[in-house]
Amino acid sequence: DTVAQFLDAYGMDPDAPSTNWVAGQLVQGTGESITLLDPSTGLPLLQYQDAGHHMVDKAVKAAVEAQKAWIAISASERGRRLQDAARGLEGHEESLARLESLIAGKPVRDCRGEVGKVREMFEYYAGWCDKQHGEVIDVPTSHLNYVQRIPYGVVGQITPWNAPMFTCGWQLAPALAAGNAAVLKPSELTPLTSAILAMLLEQGGRLPRGLIGIVNGLGHTTGKTLTSHPDIAKLVFVGSPETGRRIAEAGAQRLVPSVLELGGKSANIIFEDAAINDAVSGAQAAIFAAAGQSCVAGSRLLLQESLMTEFPERLARAAETIAVGLPDDEATRMGPLQNAAQLSRVHQLIDEAVAQGATLLTGGKPPTHLPAEAADGYFLAPTILTDVTPDMAIANEEVFGPVLVIMPFQDEEDAVALANGTRFGLAGAVWSRDTGKAMRVAHQLRVGTVWINSYKTISVMSPFGGFGDSGYGRSSGPDGLHEYSVPRSVWVET
Ligand code: NAD
Repeated sequence: DTVAQFLDAYGMDPDAPSTNWVAGQLVQGTGESITLLDPSTGLPLLQYQDAGHHMVDKAVKAAVEAQKAWIAISASERGRRLQDAARGLEGHEESLARLESLIAGKPVRDCRGEVGKVREMFEYYAGWCDKQHGEVIDVPTSHLNYVQRIPYGVVGQITPWNAPMFTCGWQLAPALAAGNAAVLKPSELTPLTSAILAMLLEQGGRLPRGLIGIVNGLGHTTGKTLTSHPDIAKLVFVGSPETGRRIAEAGAQRLVPSVLELGGKSANIIFEDAAINDAVSGAQAAIFAAAGQSCVAGSRLLLQESLMTEFPERLARAAETIAVGLPDDEATRMGPLQNAAQLSRVHQLIDEAVAQGATLLTGGKPPTHLPAEAADGYFLAPTILTDVTPDMAIANEEVFGPVLVIMPFQDEEDAVALANGTRFGLAGAVWSRDTGKAMRVAHQLRVGTVWINSYKTISVMSPFGGFGDSGYGRSSGPDGLHEYSVPRSVWVET
């Protein structure tokens, strides 16, 4: 597969790709040129132009008009259109998955899953369109007081590179279901699939032209223009805490509220009475899926003391069997890191930890047996470190790579203190056959999502979000929908 083949199939010029979906059209950017490298080979993959200031303005203006048309349509009809939008993806699943795999460097089977999730999100939130009732408040005066939920208007959304289609559908679906238009900027590293997705959704659902705008470009150009645009009424950001702060500050300048879905340093707590085989495979999947480039990655393994003798070795042997390879190979379970900067940051954190006394149990270098063409790709073998202390950077910073640190704990209290000991608060897990104990510990974790005897399951039906440096606000489920509307209280003299 080549990017050019896909671009051709979607009517784009491979030499000057139209990476933006603006006012119902695929259009080329007008800003500076951006070159993307293939994560699997390090070779040039795609060149495109930053959307630029004018393009963002055009997308927002089109969204303002489209939102008026959208809200004039009955709620039940809007629901049908969002169902149709989901159906618009039919027949494109494979090409979207292959294109994403190529650019993001993710195993193609994971990318297929992402397209399926986008459909699910649109189907789920389509069902909410005609179920967002207001309420009547029994006020102590003679008034009739009722509360309506009204959309913000146009929301601005900024997403990262680790799951481009997933995050795009995740935030677009509730935004539209609540009656908004949305302009979204994907990561500059993964620009194409979101634009194609938006085209298919908007056309499939016969949505008003411009209801979805996708503008691709850098954070400090296109991203900044979007977050400071006067017609954007709410900001939703998925990405790192550093950028999250900038987004919230940009919003604060105009008193525009934000939702921040940020990073994590999630603890996977294993008690000695856990079902050990399940815990080994659970701990492995928690960190090495998506090569650790997942916000909920279980990157800190907390083992009860007695497990320290065998568990780490078993996990290391299991990690060494993970099929690391080219993303388009169906047998691949772990691909490269997405970009060179990410790989070098991961190496730096590992080297620093080892210099401070951590022990490399496995990994720390590229896997052996990679095909020759992958020699300059951004690969790292599954990596496990022991002798890690809670004060080390590797125990506190989000690595966003296939790197697990193992630390021991004595008892429940110790486990909770260690787990809650970072600035993050996104997710975590507790493994024990004693359900009462597992629940007791789970309820003390300051995280938005916690699993008991499992890891990583999420659903569009259930709220998701963080505490502390993992952000605020919630996505998914009814809570995720409510982030996209505000109540208005109406008083009628009777
Ligand atoms: P990032 O913060 O570097 O970039 C995210 C987005 O912000 C990109 O689109 C980027 O172009 C944009 N951006 C950068 N500067 C900007 C500015 N000044 N104004 C406007 N936009 C700007 O994050 P990343 O490296 O792309 O993604 C990895 C991070 O995302 C990790 O921390 C990961 O945990 C997090 N993440 C969180 C969730 C979640 O739901 N909590 C999900 C996926 C990823």
